[in-house]
Amino acid sequence: SYGSAKNSVGDLRTGEYNKFGSPIMSEHTEEHRQHLSHSLTGPDIGSATSSIHAAEEQLKNSDSNLVEMVTTEILQQGPPVDWSDIAGLDMAKASIKEEILWPILRPDMFSGLATLPRSLLLFGPQGTGRTLLAHCMATQLGAAFLRLSSSALVTKWLGEGDKIIQASFLVARCRQPAIVFIREVDLLLSAQLSEESPVNRLKAELLMQLDSILTSTEDHILVVCSTNKPEEIPESLRRYFTKRLLIPLPDGTARHQIISQQLSQHNYCLSDKEMSLLVQRTEGFSGLDVTQLCQEAVVGPLHGIPGTDLSSIHPAQMRPVSYQDFDNVFCKFQPSISQKELDMYTEWNKMFGCNQ
Ligand code: ADP
Repeated sequence: SYGSAKNSVGDLRTGEYNKFGSPIMSEHTEEHRQHLSHSLTGPDIGSATSSIHAAEEQLKNSDSNLVEMVTTEILQQGPPVDWSDIAGLDMAKASIKEEILWPILRPDMFSGLATLPRSLLLFGPQGTGRTLLAHCMATQLGAAFLRLSSSALVTKWLGEGDKIIQASFLVARCRQPAIVFIREVDLLLSAQLSEESPVNRLKAELLMQLDSILTSTEDHILVVCSTNKPEEIPESLRRYFTKRLLIPLPDGTARHQIISQQLSQHNYCLSDKEMSLLVQRTEGFSGLDVTQLCQEAVVGPLHGIPGTDLSSIHPAQMRPVSYQDFDNVFCKFQPSISQKELDMYTEWNKMFGCNQ
């Protein structure tokens, strides 16, 4: 609510610089987030004070329904995400840590950098953990995490999409440090918008907000965007993303990790050979595909139990999940990304990416 937004801002302003370290959150509370943010905003949190004041004043004069909607729907309260929750992506993780998080956490040690990282584009196939990564960054920074979906902005909320973008950045300013994550940003930035397109208002608002974040020396806000169509972002707008990272499909080791992670909460019986076969058969799957495959397979043992028995059956009486359960559901899944699309990402990465 508006009230709690104000309180957290009040707390943030008294934030003190502690010591650098990888923060592991053991609790999922807002209080804990605020506690962390104290230690992570660096010695110059004071620099954001006037920006927070100005944002608070603006917030007071904003449409309260809109602010309420942003704090309940856009501002994420979910459990924290740790690096270990994200399988694979070692290169991307290393580069995020070294080039984005460390300079933000220790501006004193990275004083040689002209500016702190303020925007990041995660490009690549859908369902590969881009949202998880953004959420993990917020956890590591002790930052508020605001999540905007471009498709919801242009469909469900089109009439007031620009106001939602504006209110989201305003709330981010009040709650800083904050990460604003925008999914499938190509929908908002596409070059193919006709002049009369109502999406243009959203685009203009987003660019204005990005301009302000990129040029601000005060705000502790990082904008992270994802896209599976990086080629649709016009050349002139690419500069808005100071860093561009390819997030690829999970390799064999990562798929193995996701399958093990998913099965760990269930009783299962798979030989090493069957596990290797699963890893092989999921080649080309996204992390989301692998997760969904597992979720379908683990209910296999429930099939065939009559509804009347289901209510009284004890989990220990269930047969373990087997390779056959996976075999039965494989037909529902196939790699959703073509080799041609994968090659396109590699090409775009060579030309415009930051990690080759
Ligand atoms: P994206 O933003 O790239 O479309 P998400 O981060 O929303 O994808 O991932 C969707 C879901 O797929 C996650 O909640 C998770 O269950 C699973 N997933 C995708 N990639 C990974 C990964 N690398 N490690 C673990 N789980 C993953």
